[in-house]
Amino acid sequence: MSTGVWLVGARGNVASTAITGARAIARGAVDGTGMVTEVEPIASLDLPEVDQLVFGGHDIQTQSIEETVEQAHRDGGVPDRETLDAVREDLREIDDRVNIGTARQCGETIENLSDGTETGEESLSGIVSRIRDDYASFVRDHGLDRLVVVNVSSTEPPMDEPERYASLADFEAAIEDDDPDLPASTLYAYSALVDGHPYVNFTPSTGSALGGLRELAEQNDVPHMGRDGKTGETLVKSALAPMFAGRNLRVLSWEGHNILGNTDGLVLEDDDNKAGKVASKGNLLEEILGYDTHNAVRIDYTPSLGDWKTAWDHIHFQGFLETEMKMQFTWEGSDSALAAPLVLDLARLVAHADEHGDGGCQPQLASFFKSPQEVDEHDLSRQLELLYDYAEQHR
Ligand code: NAD
Repeated sequence: MSTGVWLVGARGNVASTAITGARAIARGAVDGTGMVTEVEPIASLDLPEVDQLVFGGHDIQTQSIEETVEQAHRDGGVPDRETLDAVREDLREIDDRVNIGTARQCGETIENLSDGTETGEESLSGIVSRIRDDYASFVRDHGLDRLVVVNVSSTEPPMDEPERYASLADFEAAIEDDDPDLPASTLYAYSALVDGHPYVNFTPSTGSALGGLRELAEQNDVPHMGRDGKTGETLVKSALAPMFAGRNLRVLSWEGHNILGNTDGLVLEDDDNKAGKVASKGNLLEEILGYDTHNAVRIDYTPSLGDWKTAWDHIHFQGFLETEMKMQFTWEGSDSALAAPLVLDLARLVAHADEHGDGGCQPQLASFFKSPQEVDEHDLSRQLELLYDYAEQHR
């Protein structure tokens, strides 16, 4: 079975690092460390092989995948020169398969990233049929058995009144009426699900989270899942908060301050775009602890750091005899090297679900996301149990 992976935001850091990693694995230059699908019990599933994945995608800017990776190497040392040279030809070939997307209703900061290729005059139904054609041509040109669409594009501002699109009929009427409020992520998601392509939303953007799109996924029996990859500070939080809950240590406050200097950080400087990210990072603590606590998340753009994201968390808690104590941690991660393997994992796992007829939302993938769709469980180890149970059932 040949599987295509269509990356929305294909020329960005996460997508370019995922493509580099997959091709470096294919060429024997690196191993799969960091990928969940490379360890048991997941590794025993009949997943598409990483070296067989065929990449394509949409973007709105013209800097090539090779240039993005070259810049990442120069600024942050990831990947190293040897790995980059091993995959350079592959990156050029894949970049030729990147089509111009749409930045519709993504906010001014994202529109400024685009190279003016979009006129703004195209109707929503025109955009949707163009995206569907792009997916279909890719499948046809490469003789693919399956196409998985993964959104790794910049974070959009949150939607106002998403309940207006609670049913598929509402959503399709909005497209016909050229509704100005529908953001690009929902158009990419709709175009995938309507033609039976599994869809993953690695970003905080709306994507397939609207009621109408969930209905479409159910109706067409297509797997989909989101939102917002859990790769850094929130990952640590979801592993650590259950410790405080389990030992009845009362969290009085949990402050998290993130600084990063890549393009994602630049987009998140815009308060509208930042609102979506802060919302998806913020809501797990109360769920895990079972009570409200002072819980602030800050994200600041610090250009000199490039892709090396630093998070500082300060936890003030109370134990026996009303004793107040503190814990602090600092997380320094290569943002893209943390995210990229999960993109490959998710592509392989939704392809697996599709192959086995598991349509609709995919709760077993909750551990990958900050705000897992239709799953209330935020404790990392319990979320991983969902994945291990799925693997046991399908072995
Ligand atoms: P990036 O800015 O490097 O890449 C985003 C790419 O998307 C750019 O090439 C941009 O031109 C493109 N783009 C923007 N809007 C588009 C649109 N409407 N259609 C098509 N392409 C579009 O960002 P990144 O660091 O690669 O992060 C990508 C996404 O993943 C962000 O939403 C980010 O919040 C999310 N994410 C990243 C991490 C991580 O890096 N650790 C973790 C979780 C989520």
